[in-house]
Amino acid sequence: MAKERTFSMIKPDATARNLTGKINAKFEERGLRIVAQKRLRLSRLQTREFYIIHKDRPFYEELVEYMVSGPVIVQVLEGEDAVVKNREIMGATDPANAAVGTIRKEFGEDIGRNAIHGSDAADAAAQEIRFFFSDIEIVG
Ligand code: UDP
Ligand code: MG
Repeated sequence: MAKERTFSMIKPDATARNLTGKINAKFEERGLRIVAQKRLRLSRLQTREFYIIHKDRPFYEELVEYMVSGPVIVQVLEGEDAVVKNREIMGATDPANAAVGTIRKEFGEDIGRNAIHGSDAADAAAQEIRFFFSDIEIVG
């Protein structure tokens, strides 16, 4: 598997609890390199667009309100098999079902406030990276 990039976002519940460093350590320990990173507040418009795939799900509006409730850290992670590896490091969507040692198991509060977002496929990763970063902001 060649080196690839994926998109990651540390969510407001995790930034509120000052967990950015501990979460980043999980990526670095597993060989993913943080090649771009910035802290920002999402707007409702941005969040609705980012999560447009979920627009008909019952949790959509709640998800949008939660994502705008505090700062997030958007990131590009690079490494071998980065998309799949990052999903492994994150753990299952619901922290109660996440494997021991994963970010969501250790730091997630519930299925909504689950500490981290990560792209679920290569095409989503490319699209999500483009949504937040220009090429000159990514330094591998
Ligand atoms: N989510 C929620 N309730 C649910 C399912 C998902 O609030 O029943 C939120 C949760 O924050 C999750 C996000 O919506 O991370 C996106 O859901 P998805 O199914 O894409 O999970 P993920 O890819 O983040 O594991
Ligand atoms: Mg998803």
